[in-house]
Amino acid sequence: MSGVELESIVKAYGALQVVHGIDLKVEEKEFVVLVGPSGCGKSTTLRMIAGLEEISDGQLTIDGRVMNRVAPKDRDVAMVFQNYALYPHLNVADNIAFGLRIRKEGADTIASSIEEVGNILGLTDYMERRPADLSGGQRQRVAMGRAIVRRPKVFLFDEPLSNLDAKLRTQMRAEIKRLHKRLGATSIYVTHDQVEAMTLADRIVVMNDGRIEQIGTPMELFLNPANAFVAGFLGAPP
Ligand code: ADP
Ligand code: MG
Repeated sequence: MSGVELESIVKAYGALQVVHGIDLKVEEKEFVVLVGPSGCGKSTTLRMIAGLEEISDGQLTIDGRVMNRVAPKDRDVAMVFQNYALYPHLNVADNIAFGLRIRKEGADTIASSIEEVGNILGLTDYMERRPADLSGGQRQRVAMGRAIVRRPKVFLFDEPLSNLDAKLRTQMRAEIKRLHKRLGATSIYVTHDQVEAMTLADRIVVMNDGRIEQIGTPMELFLNPANAFVAGFLGAPP
């Protein structure tokens, strides 16, 4: 049971409330995509789930356990960022291994994990390179490798493909889908790209101005948008 449940989740920065009480239940192994315009609170919501941002009010549960006060490293979640957040001075293998070394895993475990993740993501030929000597797509693969290698219960993605060109985005989309099938981890994926949402999601959560407008399968939202905002957002040409 590694579902994620948000109950009346609120985020305020001082007097400014930016997330106004979100309710969302993500089932185990489900791939849920949060979409909405820039500034609507997608990243803030994700960062509260990861523990990178304090929750102002409401309750977050992962795997049936209340997480509000649990440190990020103890939440069993891994996050993939838009800007990759790789260590520039470490090569690919060491970037992937970083989290395992912090956890003080043994050398054999680390070596076999690096090899496995390298194979899964097609990085075996690049293990000695540093991030500066990789393409954007390769860097994003390393960032995903770093998340996968820790075998988290929950994957969080914050616009991981938005720095890539259109062709690479399409390719990486397919790869993320394949990875999700293979690993089966609960995933929450943030994007402002409707096509990405429609192709990746089991269910889409449409956000606007710190609130949820509608939750449903891509087909449900497409055929039955709850209001003009949802219709406009998902119906707009890519
Ligand atoms: P999105 O990811 O959907 O583009 P964000 O979650 O980043 O939106 O931001 C939601 C709102 O919260 C925005 O209005 C943003 O300006 C505001 N915000 C984000 N971080 C902070 C912060 N540290 N202090 C004050 N306001 C913030
Ligand atoms: Mg954001």
